Amino acid sequence: MNKDCLFCRIAAGEIPSDIVFENERIVAFRDINPVAPVHILVIPKEHIASMAHLKEEHQALMGEIMTSIQKLAEQEKLDDGFRVVVNTGRDGGQTVSHLHFHLIGGRGLQWPPG
Ligand code: AMP
Ligand code: ZN
Repeated sequence: MNKDCLFCRIAAGEIPSDIVFENERIVAFRDINPVAPVHILVIPKEHIASMAHLKEEHQALMGEIMTSIQKLAEQEKLDDGFRVVVNTGRDGGQTVSHLHFHLIGGRGLQWPPG
């Protein structure tokens, strides 16, 4: 846990959030500034700064996050599709330095991003 990290503090329950799924390793909560009818952030509880900081030892955790996202998409009835986004670093537009997967859906989405 990194005391200066917003998402570590959300994972620890120190900052309130609208949690939709949680287990020992993962938390999923609704984005405070949604860009679509469904916008959920899925994070590891472990502080990993970004996708660029992943290590081999994180493989199982990343797999579990992917299947959690699949279950959340089903729960949220995103039957027509959805998008999973991982903004990484400055060029990637990452604003919170704790790895997070955006699950976005509930409307048609444009491609490519700006
Ligand atoms: P990114 O720009 O990929 O780093 O995404 C960070 C996301 O975190 C943005 O979509 C924000 O709206 C979201 N966010 C920031 N603070 C909070 C918070 N306290 N609770 C929920 N989502 C947040
Ligand atoms: Zn963190």
